[in-house]
Amino acid sequence: MKKKLLVSIFLFGILLSVSSCYSTDYNVDSNNSPSVIILDRNVHGNVIKNTYINKYMPKTNFNRNLMNKLKKGSVVYRFGNGSGKKVLICAGMHGNEPQGPLAVLKFMSFLKGKHINGTIYIIPFAIPRTTGLNTRNYRGYDPNRKVSVKGSPANKILKFALANDIDYIMDIHAANGVESSGLIFYRNQFEKSWASYVKKRAKCNIRFQRTPGSLRMAASSKKINTITIEVNRKYSSNKAIYTELRMIKYSSQYLGLLKI
Ligand SMILES: [Zn+2]
Repeated sequence: MKKKLLVSIFLFGILLSVSSCYSTDYNVDSNNSPSVIILDRNVHGNVIKNTYINKYMPKTNFNRNLMNKLKKGSVVYRFGNGSGKKVLICAGMHGNEPQGPLAVLKFMSFLKGKHINGTIYIIPFAIPRTTGLNTRNYRGYDPNRKVSVKGSPANKILKFALANDIDYIMDIHAANGVESSGLIFYRNQFEKSWASYVKKRAKCNIRFQRTPGSLRMAASSKKINTITIEVNRKYSSNKAIYTELRMIKYSSQYLGLLKI
């Protein structure tokens, strides 16, 4: 009798471990293998030439693979199955703000193993060319002031967002004079409540701002609620990257995409 009981417990244990294996595999396959496309071939570049990127970017196989893709153009990763709320996270619009892309790369590795309630599109380097050169301007103009110019990098990102029914955008930047705990720009009432949620948790500041020609303002006027997330670019350490990452995580949590 005792032997039978032991055999049953043993079999039950096997059954449990098999079923948990399957559920883990299912999660990984359905939510955590991002698909990737090339978005804009005009802006291709070698981002590793940026000494800050080279110093702080973890040299994982995933990142090495990404670096090679960026030599062909900017890329968009998609996490999740394409349904539910659709969110676009964009970093690297200004090539001399490497804190943003580095934070987004950390966020992407954070997403692995997480259940995503919706779909997250990520552009880690909007203009690889200027990141490689560590310059703000692209072909002599500020790319985040020319969103309405057809064929400009920001214009292509806006068109991508509209074509893919994106509901929300987080545009990730760094700037001089930003408070050490970070800053979020908003314009409308929804964006303000989104930013306020993050402020309460990440202890960052929030500010109303109109920036004509920016991705945020253009997307917001097309009914895609958008916030700009900023850190101080004078910090050349992991501090700025983790400050940015924290704000991205709370911004995602507010939208119900995941629990952090
Ligand atoms: Zn910027």
